[in-house]
Amino acid sequence: YTPLAEIDPVVQNIIDKETWRQFTGLELIASENLTSLAAMQANGSILTNKYSEGLPGARYYGGNEYVDELEQLCRKRALEAFHLDPSKWGVNVQPYSGSTANFAALTALLQPQDRLMGLGLPDGGHLTHGYYTAKKKMTASSIYFQSLPYALHPDTHLIDYEALSKQAKVFKPRLLICGASAYPRDWDYKGLKEIASREGAWLMCDMAHTSGLVAAQELNDPFEYCDVVTTTTHKTLRGPRAGLIFFRKDLKDAADLESRVNLAVFPACQGGPHNNTIAAIATSLLQVADPAFKAYAKQVVANARTLGSELVGEGYKLQTQGTDNHLVLWDLRPLGLTGSKLEKVCDLMGITINKNAVSGDTSAQVPGGIRLGTSALTSRDMTEEDIKTVASFLHRAVQLSLQLQKDAGSKLLKDFVKVATTPGSESYNKVKE
Ligand code: PLP
Repeated sequence: YTPLAEIDPVVQNIIDKETWRQFTGLELIASENLTSLAAMQANGSILTNKYSEGLPGARYYGGNEYVDELEQLCRKRALEAFHLDPSKWGVNVQPYSGSTANFAALTALLQPQDRLMGLGLPDGGHLTHGYYTAKKKMTASSIYFQSLPYALHPDTHLIDYEALSKQAKVFKPRLLICGASAYPRDWDYKGLKEIASREGAWLMCDMAHTSGLVAAQELNDPFEYCDVVTTTTHKTLRGPRAGLIFFRKDLKDAADLESRVNLAVFPACQGGPHNNTIAAIATSLLQVADPAFKAYAKQVVANARTLGSELVGEGYKLQTQGTDNHLVLWDLRPLGLTGSKLEKVCDLMGITINKNAVSGDTSAQVPGGIRLGTSALTSRDMTEEDIKTVASFLHRAVQLSLQLQKDAGSKLLKDFVKVATTPGSESYNKVKE
């Protein structure tokens, strides 16, 4: 039990620098958040030592008395956080991440080479929803299953439900996936259920990005219509990095679905659960159930709306002109600026954002947009007034990027890099401020 700083000062130093970066910078990555100290303590606990393949009461290792208690508690809290009746819904809390949760869900619901439909990646979908390129199938969801992406309406940039319905009639998917990584509007789960039912397909929602807002009832409820709901636990839900799979228990072959999901997680896709992470999920879900989390989620949305309206006020273009959730998608193409350039300049300013495809983009490497999210800043108690200041910083970052672009290889760029990498100088402190 010698502390890390003594055993490995090199790693300790990297952690210290990252702590400094997270707390002095402005974190605007929509998929990130700042989890609580309590959750981090649980995540860094002695539970990391324990193997417990299997499920509570049916393990392949001894010594799981307390781990069983923990996993049961985590399941109970997960159902409570999403206001679910335990006679109608069950949950598997073992997935290591959102991607493994999704692949396990696909494994549970489909046979190899069955057909699925998800929102295309360039339109805001996730890799695990069947993404492939014209050249290559590079995700397991497209290698092991046949996938047809649906898209946004070219004018409104909202999900094109009419086109989706027509595609589904022809493609006849076994699974329809909703949910996204970069979609600023809410979903019509009822409409999707009608399409899925007509085709005899499962309806699955991957609410990874929005699950904290769903728990706080700030968005439509996917549990009303979906058969399976997956999520990460570290985005708006503000927990450790992991995944959850919820499954219906009130269907005709409910027991079958439950055992299919559980067997897909272990042994099909994973080995022993990470019990330290499950403890951290349980603690985070306790916090989600607190009324303070509801206020947090409301503020996340209010902050995202403010960020959107401030940027529009500066004359910028947003995809769908605003947001219903925690993220805004900023289309930089009218400025002749790429998302990668603005991301780099913002990095130098201590503002962390990510380049993102916007509808119609042809390159994922050099896309024309930026995705911004307010979950982490709201965790630092920022409200609308603070967000207006953040929007003004972003405006300055754009002006600077445009100036640098005009003046390629310029002295200004070199000076800027120097300033931003010379700790302690007056200008450096100014930049950091
Ligand atoms: N699903 C969606 C919608 C996501 O946006 C992401 C990640 O950003 C994932 C799944 C994958 O989660 P993880 O990175 O935990 O594997």
